[in-house]
Amino acid sequence: MSRKVLVLGEVRDQQLRNVSFEAIAAGKTISEGGEVVAVLVGENVASLTSELFHYGADRVVTVENEKLLTYTPDGYSQALISVIEEEKPEGIVFGHTSLGKDLSPKIAAKLNSGLISDATAIEIAGGNIVFTRPIYSGKAFEKKIVTDGLIFATIRPNNINPLKKDETKTGETSSLSVEIKDLRTIVKEVVRKASEGVDLSEAKVVIAGGRGVKSEEGFEPLKELANVLGGAVGASRGACDADYCDYSLQIGQTGKVVTPDLYIACGISGAIQHLAGMSNAKVIVAINKDPEANIFKVADYGIVGDLFEVVPLLTEEFRKLQI
Ligand code: FAD
Repeated sequence: MSRKVLVLGEVRDQQLRNVSFEAIAAGKTISEGGEVVAVLVGENVASLTSELFHYGADRVVTVENEKLLTYTPDGYSQALISVIEEEKPEGIVFGHTSLGKDLSPKIAAKLNSGLISDATAIEIAGGNIVFTRPIYSGKAFEKKIVTDGLIFATIRPNNINPLKKDETKTGETSSLSVEIKDLRTIVKEVVRKASEGVDLSEAKVVIAGGRGVKSEEGFEPLKELANVLGGAVGASRGACDADYCDYSLQIGQTGKVVTPDLYIACGISGAIQHLAGMSNAKVIVAINKDPEANIFKVADYGIVGDLFEVVPLLTEEFRKLQI
């Protein structure tokens, strides 16, 4: 059975986030040969439509309004509900990002629909669309199917591969004009805390520091390694609580969930709450002085040693590989 699936193209700083392309791929699977319609919400976003086609969208709908320049749950839900009423999709996919996590339950409740959140894989099996999602802080996975009604899901960034980019692909674009009213919150200013470098939630490489980095300056060698590998710096709550870095870097149960190709944990003991945010990384390298540290239980490669010796050596070696 083919379906029409609506996918949210998430825009930040006038650029599409990677998770938008992953959502298109998820939408393709759910559509089972039907149509994937990408939606762009914001102001002056129409210029981004071509990239959505390159990654597989069949059609793009834009909703542009000055009140949608920055995300507000009221504004975005009005825009998206209008598109949903117009398009009547049988499936909807958002990224499981801060925006997607905030917006999807609101829209699902308005539509009186269920929601499968934080899917890490989607497949067709036994005639069903089967979603895999982590439970118990990533200690186990459950598989879910939707038996009736709208199939609405959010997908965890970095888990579902985007389709191969095809720059020759184009499609039809339309715009929907929506009157945005009754905004209960207005964003006056956005103050970025972690403004530099790669976005932590979407990074392919994450170098994370724990209490073992011992100070704010202790993060410098980690930043250097992240720079060489084109990655982002993250942290344990231990490091954030000790004021070595900002809470925006925190990874774990009460921080960000990351699924990079490579996660290097430096001076992190591996508490269960930290593992909840990173144990699905494809390759985990742990550097710790304590050979008994819990982090080694989830690590693919363990280095028992002082991070202040090991990290600069790694940086030096990776630098050589780049030349
Ligand atoms: P520690 O446990 O103190 O470990 C430091 C490690 O560094 C040690 O293993 C030590 O051997 C090693 N080390 C020291 N010096 C060096 C060196 N020079 N070289 C190499 N290794 C060195 N934690 C999170 O991370 N994320 C969360 O989201 C989170 N949420 C929580 C929610 C709740 C409700 C609770 C109760 C706790 C939560 N925690 C979370 C806290 C968690 O339980 C741990 O306290 C925290 O993860 C510990 O941080 P750490 O590993 O950096 O510090």
